[in-house]
Parts: sequence; structure tokens; C-alpha cells
Amino acid sequence: MSFSLEQQFMLEKPGILLSFEQLRLNFKLELRQLEHESHAMSSTLTALLQESIPIESKVQEIDSLVSRNRNLKKKMVQLREAEEMHIQRTRLRLQFINTLSQIEDLDSPEYLDWSRTRLNRLIADYMLANGYHDSAIKLCKNSDLFEMVDIDIYKRYQQILDSILRRELKEVLAWCAEHRSILKKISSTLELEIRIQRFVELVKSNKKVQAINFAKTYFGNWTKTHAGRLQQVAALLAIPYSTKISRYNEYLSDQRWDFLASLFSKTFSQVNCLSSVSILHIAIAAGLSSLKTPSCYNYEDAHNSHSFQSSAIRQCPVCTPNLSVLAQSLPYAHVTQSVIVDSLTGARLDSDNRPVALPNGHVYGIKSLIAWNEVNGTQEGYLKDPFSGKDYPSELLRKVYVV
Ligand SMILES: [Zn+2]
Repeated sequence: MSFSLEQQFMLEKPGILLSFEQLRLNFKLELRQLEHESHAMSSTLTALLQESIPIESKVQEIDSLVSRNRNLKKKMVQLREAEEMHIQRTRLRLQFINTLSQIEDLDSPEYLDWSRTRLNRLIADYMLANGYHDSAIKLCKNSDLFEMVDIDIYKRYQQILDSILRRELKEVLAWCAEHRSILKKISSTLELEIRIQRFVELVKSNKKVQAINFAKTYFGNWTKTHAGRLQQVAALLAIPYSTKISRYNEYLSDQRWDFLASLFSKTFSQVNCLSSVSILHIAIAAGLSSLKTPSCYNYEDAHNSHSFQSSAIRQCPVCTPNLSVLAQSLPYAHVTQSVIVDSLTGARLDSDNRPVALPNGHVYGIKSLIAWNEVNGTQEGYLKDPFSGKDYPSELLRKVYVV
């Protein structure tokens, strides 16, 4: 069976975009560092040309320039190493999807290997995004998966998220500063909301003069685009802490920390091109939907794990207890041709394993029914119904024709 390369690429795209985005951010950091230092150096050297400066001071300035340059070199080496790492990761991810172009068959061992690696990566990504970092590291251990998942990014995400929930804003502000240009590009209000929270905390601690100074320093950049909102926030200076007016109360309430945490999560995903729903979830939902039929959930005996029927039901992934909840809201598969499967083995019924019915109406594949009876030692000339356990003479078996 063949597959569509485009469809497979959809699941790989976010990982490739993420590592490319990291490469872009790293490059910008290198550029900014160089521009900043070269500007500082050129202005210091220009100042040194003045004859009025004593020679000792000039020597001191040059010494400090040399030491600044040494630090710059160290920093650039670190950034260069990070760049190499991001290039290597991007290359590996592209090579991984490219391997598919050499695989033609979905049933081939090469595809099985490839899809197993991909499944592990999706699971590792899911665990990282949900804070199970140690488990993800264990899963990736001793394999190329370390290069395929973004442990550092998710660790940083978790640290910042935890710090917000601990009501600390330093780390998220540092993250905003690192990504300021992209946050501006996507018109993010995360930094504004964080600054507002700092202001609110000062108001809540009754440090009104400090709050006014804070507003003067940090709200200036936002007055053009968010004037109304800032006026509302400024009114908090005159509103009692116990106010019941909802538009003011929502700033003072503790629930604002949850709002900030969820705003950070959303912004982080946007900046890093991450899907808000995990790719593992999307892949499972797509798979379940392609298997879901109107017969799913139509069972009475699922709670009885010892019955044959419930074990047959467990062969349907949609009906398994762990996945049935997830599949409940999914649409049915668009199936234009019926496929009849053996209720004993789940294998497809065809001319080799044609369907037969016992007198009680239960239908099985002839091959698997005989094999099951042989294993269970049924008396010769008889066939036992695996479902009811009742014996029937073999000649009462009827062929089933599906029209
Ligand atoms: Zn089912």
C-alpha cells in the first residue's frame, strides 16, 4: 500500500519550523551582539581621539576595550556552537522526512522503522509539552531522538510557566525581551499584561507613588495602541482594593495569574510555531476517525472483561476504554466499500477465509473457526461456537454470501 508524502509531511512540519525558528533567533542574537559591540567600540575610539584626555585614561580605556572584545569573542563562540546545533537539528529533521521518498510501501520494514521513530518522537513531544521531562528524556535515551525533540525549549517553557504560577514575573519579562521583535510582529499583548500586573501588585501593596513612577516608565510605549485600557488600569489608583466592580476587580483578582499563565502558553506556542493541540493528539484523532463506524459503542457487555464479546470489542481501537472517550466527538469514517472482518481474529474475510454461519447465526471465517476448534480440542465431527461454547455437528455449518 502506498502513502501520500504531503500528508506525512504535515506531522513533521512543526518540528522543522521550530528548529529553523531557533536558528533564526540565534542568528539575530549574533547580529545584535556584534552591532552593539561595534557601536560601543567605534564611539569609544572616536572619543579617544580628543587630545584633552590624559594618556593614562586612554590606555585604561583601550585595556577595557580589549577585555570587552575578549568577552565578545567568548559569547560569539557560544552562539556559533548553538548555531551549529540548530543547523544539525534542522538537517536531521529534513533528512528524516526525506527518507520517506525512498520508501514505497506502507507494509515494508523500512516504513515500520520510520513510523516507530516518528511515533516515539510524537510521544516525547507530548510528554515534554505536558511537563513529563524526565520520562521524555528516558524515552529519547540512546537514540537519535534527542536531536528530533526540543527538550531545552520545553524545559524553558515549563520554568517560565512555573515562575508565573509562583507569581514571579522576572523570567517571563526576560523571555519577552529576547523575543521583542517577533512579539511586536504578531501584535502580542503579553508584555503589556505583565507590566500591568507589576503595576497592580504595587497598587495592591499600597505603594501608589511607586506605581505611578512604574506607569510613567513602562506604559509609555503602549499609550498609542492601548490608551483606553491603560486609563482603566490607572483608575485602580483611586479604586478601593475591595471593589466589586467587575472591570476593576478582574485586575485585582488572583485569577489573573492563571490568565497570565495561559496567555504566556498561547504566545509561546505562537512564537515557536507550535500547535495548540499536540500533534500526537491530532494523529490519534485522525486514525480513530478513519476507523470509527456507527457500530462502535453499540455493545452491552464491554464491562465484562471475561466474555468473548468484550475481547472482540477490544480489537476495535475506537471501542477500547482508553480511546473511546477521545473518539466520542469524532466523525465517522467515510467508507464507500464494506470490509467484513473475522470476529475471532480481526482478519479480513475473503475467498481464502470465507464466512460461515453456525446454526445460532454466529458468523466466523472458516479457517479461523477450524483452527480455534483444533486448539480447543473439540470432538471430531463437531464445531464449538467460541462465543456461546455450544457444540454443533459440522454438517450444519452454512456458507454466508454477502451481496
Ligand atoms: Zn468500535
